[in-house]
Amino acid sequence: MSDCDGAKGKLYELLRGELCAEDSAPIREHLAECPECQGEEDVCRQLMGVVKRACIEERDANCPPEQLRDAILSSLRGATSA
Ligand SMILES: [Zn+2]
Repeated sequence: MSDCDGAKGKLYELLRGELCAEDSAPIREHLAECPECQGEEDVCRQLMGVVKRACIEERDANCPPEQLRDAILSSLRGATSA
């Protein structure tokens, strides 16, 4: 199993509280021992803050447009790795 890919793929849902305890437990466990995914979690939290602000203006905080999400995510990643 690629733990990192699985954890990163579910991070956004985890942080939004969309995962049930059964699904989120292994991801939280992985996060606790993986610095790389902890970094990704930070990025994800920042992303959520930005997306939430953008979407309140746009229409609905619960449905960030994929393109906006991707654009912000790339810019955040670029900023942290620069
Ligand atoms: Zn990881």
